[in-house]
Amino acid sequence: MNTAICRIDPENFSDEELNTAGDILQKGELVAFPTETVYGLGGNALDPRASAKIYQAKGRPSDNPLIVHISEMEDLCRLAAFVPEKAKRLADAFWPGPLTMIFRKKDIVPEATTGGLSTVAVRMPSHPIARALIRRSGIYIAAPSANSSGRPSPTKAEHVLEDLQGKIPMVIDGGGVGIGLESTIVDMTEGSPSILRPGYITKEMIEREIGEVQIDPALLAMKENVVARAPGMKYRHYAPKGQMTIVEGDTERVIAAINDMVREKQALGCCVAVIATEETRECYQCSLVRSVGSRKTEGSIAAGLYDILREMDHLGAEFIFAESFREDRLGQAIMNRMLKAAAYRLIQV
Ligand code: AMP
Ligand code: MG
Repeated sequence: MNTAICRIDPENFSDEELNTAGDILQKGELVAFPTETVYGLGGNALDPRASAKIYQAKGRPSDNPLIVHISEMEDLCRLAAFVPEKAKRLADAFWPGPLTMIFRKKDIVPEATTGGLSTVAVRMPSHPIARALIRRSGIYIAAPSANSSGRPSPTKAEHVLEDLQGKIPMVIDGGGVGIGLESTIVDMTEGSPSILRPGYITKEMIEREIGEVQIDPALLAMKENVVARAPGMKYRHYAPKGQMTIVEGDTERVIAAINDMVREKQALGCCVAVIATEETRECYQCSLVRSVGSRKTEGSIAAGLYDILREMDHLGAEFIFAESFREDRLGQAIMNRMLKAAAYRLIQV
């Protein structure tokens, strides 16, 4: 299959530019498109055959459900069996935007889209191309990240092509995305809402709107396992091909520890790379040092993370040593993705 690339300027386009993409989606085929979080691989959420194509193109396990993207608030009650008051308040506050909410599903949503679950994940994205595409195609768009399963999520059309060229009919290239990490996911099906995946919309921001929310114990539990024992490969995700280790502690000690480990691996003839920050990039004695962004702006780190993880593969890095980040606000989402990329290999110094 030839993958067409449709270049669109997100700041200046007409809806006609989305005609071909809209037609492809209506026919039950797939289109990758930019959202404000990462690029999504879209298909008709109500068509089980379209969903099946998404799983196939990504090589995604069929029990990992897809997020359904809508463009209008009215669409939500067509998909969700029940919308709690707190969900309405979160939608008012954060939609359109990088927040996904889980609801009990209506029958029209096929289990092929929800990975066999009786619940459905819904998001209203804010990216102008995503919004226009949903409206033009006239469908609800099921869209997981447009990467091969297990690889870092795509934040540029080039990343999508790296993974899916020849497997899907079209990619809309709308340039780099703004946020660079997947949406925050909040489960609204229980009495007390629970964050299943941290993202740009933080716990603090959510609690300001609806009061206390839980964090899925699995998110925290996995982290504790990490230090205790070697993590299973099943947790590996967003991952570069090399073995990644995160080093946590006082900055000076982190730098010293990473330099030691780099020296040790280089002595064995291995290709080693360091993921540093603007503030520390000059401090490493390693030929491959990449800065993921500045600690002064967490947003720049979120936006640069997946690109850097993919670059590690291009560099042929066999061992990757990365600095760690504070786990509050956006840092929680950043560290969640980094820990998965590192298969929870974390060293404290
Ligand atoms: P992706 O868009 O690739 O980040 O994948 C969608 C994410 O949403 C995955 O982590 C899914 O496990 C999660 N998700 C989608 N639907 C549900 C659901 N009904 N319940 C819980 N998690 C979900
Ligand atoms: Mg994904």
